[in-house]
Amino acid sequence: MYNIVILGPPGSGKGTQSKLIEERYNLLHLSTGDMLRREISEGTDTGKQVKGVIKSGNLVSDEIVTSLIASSIDCDVGHDGFLYDGYPRTVNQAKQLEDLLSHRNMTIDVLLVMEVEKGELVKRLSGRGVAAGRPDDQSIEVINNRLEIYRSITEPLVSHFCQKGICARIDGMGKIEEIFARIRGAIDKICVRQ
Ligand code: AMP
Repeated sequence: MYNIVILGPPGSGKGTQSKLIEERYNLLHLSTGDMLRREISEGTDTGKQVKGVIKSGNLVSDEIVTSLIASSIDCDVGHDGFLYDGYPRTVNQAKQLEDLLSHRNMTIDVLLVMEVEKGELVKRLSGRGVAAGRPDDQSIEVINNRLEIYRSITEPLVSHFCQKGICARIDGMGKIEEIFARIRGAIDKICVRQ
């Protein structure tokens, strides 16, 4: 079973690339952002709890996202592994993920780090806000808050994983297929080595 994490600031193309990766490697795509938006649209207790947090661009509690991930892993049948998109986002979530995988005799195999220039991120996020109906992409203050949270809280995870030799920095600028080719190269290189 493969466990691949795709990390990167909002707007770095994680969702787009995830669709290609899940298909190519037969992985279950686990996007905590999508799961949380589903909770909100279904009006669940969790949805009610997280709605305001997401709208402001802040992070939902580690416990909520980790339990969504754990139940998705345990319910899965038929995939060759899991692709984590937008999770983990804190050092504590990374530890929780490592723990829950080790209890199931798995580890994180690859960490893909999407790198895109800040100006391009702001352009992409502002563009998709209205089209995708995402309130957290429609205000420049919220976009800046999310980018700053990534820089200060999530980016430190990269060095945590790089020390383990499973980290691949991906140039996220350019055409979708070109970026996907870089990702395939990185996954195949790390997975062959293991
Ligand atoms: P995303 O679709 O990944 O950009 O996530 C949208 C929003 O959902 C984020 O700005 C957070 O408010 C929340 N969220 C998604 N994933 C996580 C996570 N792993 N930890 C905390 N909050 C999250």
